[in-house]
Amino acid sequence: MSKHKVVIVGSGPAGLTAALYAARANLQPIVIEGDQPGGQLTITTDVENYPGFAEGVMGPEMMEIFRAQAERFGAECVFGQADKVELDGSPFRVHVGKDLYEAEALIVSTGATAKLLGLEAETRLMGYGVSACATCDGFFFKDKHVIVIGGGDTAMEEAIFLTNHAAKVTVVHRRDELRASKIMAERARKNDKIEFIWDSVLEDIAGDAEQGGVTAAILRNLKTDEKSEMPIDGIFLAIGHRPNTELFAGALDVDESGYIVTKSKSSRTNIPGVFACGDVQDKEYRQAVTAAGSGCMAAIDAERWLAARE
Ligand code: NDP
Repeated sequence: MSKHKVVIVGSGPAGLTAALYAARANLQPIVIEGDQPGGQLTITTDVENYPGFAEGVMGPEMMEIFRAQAERFGAECVFGQADKVELDGSPFRVHVGKDLYEAEALIVSTGATAKLLGLEAETRLMGYGVSACATCDGFFFKDKHVIVIGGGDTAMEEAIFLTNHAAKVTVVHRRDELRASKIMAERARKNDKIEFIWDSVLEDIAGDAEQGGVTAAILRNLKTDEKSEMPIDGIFLAIGHRPNTELFAGALDVDESGYIVTKSKSSRTNIPGVFACGDVQDKEYRQAVTAAGSGCMAAIDAERWLAARE
């Protein structure tokens, strides 16, 4: 067992920025990295919209830089997955396998996970024509033909956004009725560059990561069971995100979609001393730079809370 002033659970831009700020405040934070150290950015390729990297940077490399910067000031990153937390008394207790970390203040930055379909090709071609984020990767599909999978608000938003770059966007939805709000659906329907394929699912993806990535989508019509192969340059999955909050179920307040609720303009949760930042509490923006900003807020909130306590 080890005792700490600040323990941070999650190591994406939010967690590592919180670590940087907490370390510079001399709080010697421990970061429990989770099963995907660096978070969602480690499954993207070029990041061109993070201010300060004028030439762009590869996602995994950017997270290495974040980590090195936090470690430079004394943050310690621990490889492992928090599998149980106890928040019902001070200090808070975080279990990582057989190790136990006690924390006076806890920062939750466990992020969100884009839902995937579960296809082997989808994982193999992620970052090579398959993406779960149009704002991150849309730019690479200038004048190309892409498909968006899903029928919710995210799918409509991504399809509309993609028309800024792509020549044509095909939305593939498993039913013949959209889940999206009327206004978003209408906007997508009115867009000349967007077309819809109904009652269909993506069954497989053709392409080789080493040789230009995605080349075709294999679709199946659920009503006729007919299969078709559509030549395509990119595939955007927009079937929802899942905030990673299982660890805190029952302890931290969440909204109707499962995101942790933070008190207005702060990172404070319903438990004093527990702070949340990044995508686990944000379904609106979901950008690396907004996650990093909220990580900074969480470290400052934690520092002030600890100081007030002493
Ligand atoms: P949703 O859960 O609303 O929609 C997911 C979509 O993906 C549904 O159409 C669903 O189909 C489809 N889907 C799910 N799983 C599969 C699968 N395995 N195979 C094929 N299709 C699948 O998620 P969103 O991310 O779109 O939205 C999340 C929340 O955020 C919502 O409350 C939304 O309103 C909100 N939001 C609001 C925005 C705005 O107002 N600007 C922008 C983005 C999100 P089916 O319909 O058949 O279930």
